[in-house]
Amino acid sequence: LASQLSASRDSHARRPLQAVAPDISPSELLDGIRRDVFSMHFQPKVDANTLRVVGVEALARWQHAGQSVRPDFFIGAAERHGLIAPLSRMLLAKTLNDASRLAEAGFPLFIAFNLSASWLSDIHLPEFILESIQAVSLPAERLILEITETTILSDLDTAMDVLTRQRLKGFKLSIDDFGTGYSSMEQLQRIPFSELKLDRSFVQGAADRPTVRAILSASIDMARKLKLSTVAEGVETQAELDLVRGLGCDLVQGWLIAKAMPVAELIDWLRSRATQPT
Ligand code: C2E
Ligand code: CA
Ligand code: CA
Repeated sequence: LASQLSASRDSHARRPLQAVAPDISPSELLDGIRRDVFSMHFQPKVDANTLRVVGVEALARWQHAGQSVRPDFFIGAAERHGLIAPLSRMLLAKTLNDASRLAEAGFPLFIAFNLSASWLSDIHLPEFILESIQAVSLPAERLILEITETTILSDLDTAMDVLTRQRLKGFKLSIDDFGTGYSSMEQLQRIPFSELKLDRSFVQGAADRPTVRAILSASIDMARKLKLSTVAEGVETQAELDLVRGLGCDLVQGWLIAKAMPVAELIDWLRSRATQPT
């Protein structure tokens, strides 16, 4: 894996738009799970107008041979090799442990966790997640489960069944990477979502491309009609923040506010923010 990672990094340099996923083997993943090498970082989600922090998204990290492996690469490998359940269980436990540290430090924020497509087909998932959150004494309403639009569309019936049961347990549901699939309002209405996350490509492309801006604006209007709150992903500049604010987006997430960070760093960041004038 280490040699493939540096090879993929070199090819990155020549072809910056193409990310070549290294083939991570089942034994490398199992070894990683056994040696407990994964950790979670947290990226703040803030109110678009007041910039008050309302929640965080948990993002998985893996340091391997001194380099970080991209989460979409190792999550994808775990899905291909049938290892998504043990990996996701571990990531959820870490997320919830960090979430209770955050609450103990005085920051009872919403915690968003990314739910992988292949884990979603496990019929025991809603009960498992509920037991996991009860084990750390956090309320179910604190957890937001993010599911990508393409996952929902690939198997709408299973998604509807499992997600509706998740919602009944009290978790919030969020549609991730919205705009990358082609879901209709009718399809989205069938699942009880509470949030829609506008994909970074639309947020970043909207400033200088009127058609992208029109899609972004229409998506925000549709979300409002469905009573969903909206989150703009990948906000990197003040111009992007002004634009999504102007379109009526509720929350923003992106490097303009902060990158994802380990929980201890997040607590320091939140504390220093609380003492700063707004
Ligand atoms: P995602 O769920 O769409 O997560 C947002 C990604 O955008 C993260 O990449 C984040 O670091 C990055 N990002 C946030 N703000 C900005 C910005 O302003 N500019 C740019 N250029 N990027 C920004 P990351 O951490 O590399 O994660 C990539 C993907 O891997 C995630 O996309 C998600 O699909 C998947 N992933 C990460 N952690 C987990 C996990 O615990 N479970 C599952 N199933 N998937 C995960
Ligand atoms: Ca996400
Ligand atoms: Ca996303």
